[in-house]
Formats: sequence, C-alpha cells, structure tokens
Amino acid sequence: MDDLERHRRLRLERDALLSTPNCPTCLQQMEPAEIDGVPVWRCPECGAERPA
Ligand SMILES: [Zn+2]
Repeated sequence: MDDLERHRRLRLERDALLSTPNCPTCLQQMEPAEIDGVPVWRCPECGAERPA
C-alpha cells in the first residue's frame, strides 16, 4: 500500500468516526441518544442501538 492510499483510508476512517452512522439493519440515519448517561446512537426507525 502506498502513502496516498494509506492517507485516503485514514481519512475515510476519521470521517466515519465523526459523521452520523447509518443503522446496520434498515440503513436509516441514526440519532444521538443517551442510555444511563452513556452516549449511544439510536435508530429512529427500528430502535437499534450502537455505542457512540
Ligand atoms: Zn434501524
């Protein structure tokens, strides 16, 4: 893997961390929520949750 490719992947990973994820089940954009004070992403469509 050359430098350009490595940088491109790093940028994609960082963007994925910063941007709102999509629900793995129904692909809706997830919403930030909190459960017992712990930040999570929640799907407004099916209620799926994942760690923020
Ligand atoms: Zn969903």
